[in-house]
Amino acid sequence: MSQNSTGNIKQFNLGEGHRMTPQRRFVYEVLMNSKDHPTATEVFMRVKNKMDSISLATVYNCLDALVGVGVVRQVNVDREPSRYCGNLEPHAHFHCENCASVEDISLKDGAKPSNSLKLPRGAKVEKFEVVVRGLCPECALSIKTKKQLN
Ligand SMILES: [Zn+2]
Ligand SMILES: [Zn+2]
Repeated sequence: MSQNSTGNIKQFNLGEGHRMTPQRRFVYEVLMNSKDHPTATEVFMRVKNKMDSISLATVYNCLDALVGVGVVRQVNVDREPSRYCGNLEPHAHFHCENCASVEDISLKDGAKPSNSLKLPRGAKVEKFEVVVRGLCPECALSIKTKKQLN
């Protein structure tokens, strides 16, 4: 999986009306370098380190544009703020209900969503969005340890 893809940034064209502005470039780079699925506010804080003049509203616009052209994925978990993911490989998300972290779950080698699910005949998959919930390894371990101590 290539998360270090800052160098790929010139390889896609955002298309008509979707210029790669410096703001979008910074937002995109932050997402390419974040594996923790930041919220818009978290992206804003990280971009602000590099571009002090950027506003939260601009970050929202950039995220919308990047999601719109499909180079960034929006991840929604319940009523929590949307999170953003720069990993475009087909993957599911693991949501920890204790610490609210979101992690990528990659598919097994060679697996494709379309052949591991019983899709209606003739259906064409455009997006793959699966959220698995539970406890991340650290939370599972600390909860187990707490139970043993009590
Ligand atoms: Zn956790
Ligand atoms: Zn992801």
